Amino acid sequence: MTYPIDLRSDTVTQPSPAMRQFMAQAEVGDAVIDIDPTTERLEKLTAEMLGKEAAIFMPSGSMTNQIAIRLHCRPGDEFLCEENCHVYNYEQAAFAQLSGVVARTLPGEHGVLQPEQFEGKVRPENDHLVRTRLVCLENTHNRGSGKVQPFDVVQKITNWAHDHGLKTHLDGARLFNAAAATGIPVADWSAMFDTVSVCFSKGLGAPVGSALAGPAEFIRQAKRARKLFGGGMRQSGIIAAGALFALQNNVTRLSEDHEKAAKLAEAVRQTEGIHLDVDPVETNIVIFSIDKELGTAAQLQAALSERGVEVLSVAPQKIRMVTHLDVSMLQVDAAIEVIKQTLPALA
Ligand SMILES: *Cc1c(COP(=O)(O)O)cnc(C)c1O
Repeated sequence: MTYPIDLRSDTVTQPSPAMRQFMAQAEVGDAVIDIDPTTERLEKLTAEMLGKEAAIFMPSGSMTNQIAIRLHCRPGDEFLCEENCHVYNYEQAAFAQLSGVVARTLPGEHGVLQPEQFEGKVRPENDHLVRTRLVCLENTHNRGSGKVQPFDVVQKITNWAHDHGLKTHLDGARLFNAAAATGIPVADWSAMFDTVSVCFSKGLGAPVGSALAGPAEFIRQAKRARKLFGGGMRQSGIIAAGALFALQNNVTRLSEDHEKAAKLAEAVRQTEGIHLDVDPVETNIVIFSIDKELGTAAQLQAALSERGVEVLSVAPQKIRMVTHLDVSMLQVDAAIEVIKQTLPALA
């Protein structure tokens, strides 16, 4: 068995030898002066897969999300989002810091909002008020334990938004996981939104990068904003190649990660003193709470780490485990054994 077994995040994956080979051989140019051919190939393939006119490669999902918000809104505008979403919680409110935009959060259930919650949320034209411009959703939902947004719910919310003259953006950092879990193609999810952000550095296993997809003119403006945000990259084909390799090789295997997460979830279900946050686990993220009598999440994280299993404490009593392509089913079995042995020893 190979240790450590790293379940902290699906961002910890190492580029495989084949991916590294592909990256080493990538044809590159200067994407700031004019064109980097490999980056261009990646952008074309991403746009095609998402069914959008164009896509643009960026260093991170925070940048794709924040540039989308910046372009959909103007200073003094607001967007609607779920209160636990990544855009609001984990990106330093860049929409406020960099773009003068404010967020109005709505409470979801494990990251899922209901269409009724949006009623009356568009502010009227009035000099006292900010202007409501955009709805942002996240699929799958990170803090919602990888929960998939129900397709019909997303359809109702985005229809409502468009009927009310609002734009829609999808934080699809794990959209490919949502597609794998439901069998609904990424393009069908994507079609409901004006713009979509996807990450290559999560479950897809590339070392760096995200893409923003949408209408050609919007993506042209996004290129300008990317330069403003310091995200213009020159021989970006080296890293774009990792993302391209990921799109071509690592999409269909995502369901394996979901099987591994289901196995971890089953173990949590059967173990006394720990409880699944969301049951069933739908994709690759397992969040569970630990009873106070047993100890804290930080104590459990430290104890597991000593035994070669890395997890993330995400709240005083909550632990997150994420499956990915660098954790085998055998390692999942081994991690389960370690958890079972460690828990009683904690108290
Ligand atoms: C990881 C992630 C992002 C982007 O994160 P970066 O680290 O900036 O690439 C955006 N949204 C969600 C839901 C994520 O999990």
